[in-house]
Amino acid sequence: MTIVKNISDLSNIIADQYSKSLKIGLVPTMGSLHNGHLSLIKIAKEKCDVVWVSIFINPTQFNNLKDYESYPKQNLNDIKILKSVSSSIYVFFPAVNEIYNKKIVAQKFKFDNINKVLEGKKRPGHFDGVATIIMKLFKIFKPSMAFFGEKDYQQTLIVQYIIDNYFPNIDLIICPTIRNSDGLALSSRNKLISDQSINQSKIIFEILNFVKMNFSKIEYNKLIKIVKKRIEAINKFELEYFEIRENITLNSYDPKNQKNNYRAFICVKIEGVRLIDNLLIN
Ligand code: AMP
Repeated sequence: MTIVKNISDLSNIIADQYSKSLKIGLVPTMGSLHNGHLSLIKIAKEKCDVVWVSIFINPTQFNNLKDYESYPKQNLNDIKILKSVSSSIYVFFPAVNEIYNKKIVAQKFKFDNINKVLEGKKRPGHFDGVATIIMKLFKIFKPSMAFFGEKDYQQTLIVQYIIDNYFPNIDLIICPTIRNSDGLALSSRNKLISDQSINQSKIIFEILNFVKMNFSKIEYNKLIKIVKKRIEAINKFELEYFEIRENITLNSYDPKNQKNNYRAFICVKIEGVRLIDNLLIN
């Protein structure tokens, strides 16, 4: 396994890989790796000649300093995990200054509607930060393919926007959400929540499935009320949002347009930690 911390070393290796016409796959992460991340790496290995995993907790995508500071970090363990899955992975592990050169600010983007709703609305500036780091990583790696999780579905739309507007040669591969045996989506943030609440968090996926089953049977506003009631019946659980939106534009649910593809999005705050999930429902 090759670990690189600075851009100049990385550029030399990438230039060599390019000269050999190797197909480069990029898996951007913020570390605290779990099986969700590993599934992206596995898919990348199947599709590409070379897989780069970046581990970087990107400061500009945190709209809340406390959230940034408490984000789980386990650098040594991450390296161990990556070594155990493959000896041929390349890891980019930069410091903040290497990426931002002391100017830790996000670029501003015009994403239209996709940035104005859901996570974009609740975390102002978040997707500008996400897009900033993705632009930087895409510029450095010029990958053939980039691998992102459906778990952060709205983020994949932002990545697609970046690709469409700046990097049309990159293929975005959206990888399925990996869940624990109860259906809870794996997330680095799960580590910040007590075992008891994690057990109770299976309600999130149960609710999404309930909505999928009942989408055509129960009227929209009633469905929303049921979701809120079921989530908030649990001690320490607060529903930050539950919404059904069109799959690509993220436009609001339109009962007159049943032909659209709709996706349910949920964010539950548990012990101060925001867990998000989503499911295509028709
Ligand atoms: P993060 O380290 O949380 O920024 O995630 C890095 C990448 O892994 C993103 O593309 C996420 O969408 C993806 N990811 C995170 N959790 C999961 C999961 N449970 N299943 C599949 N992909 C995931």
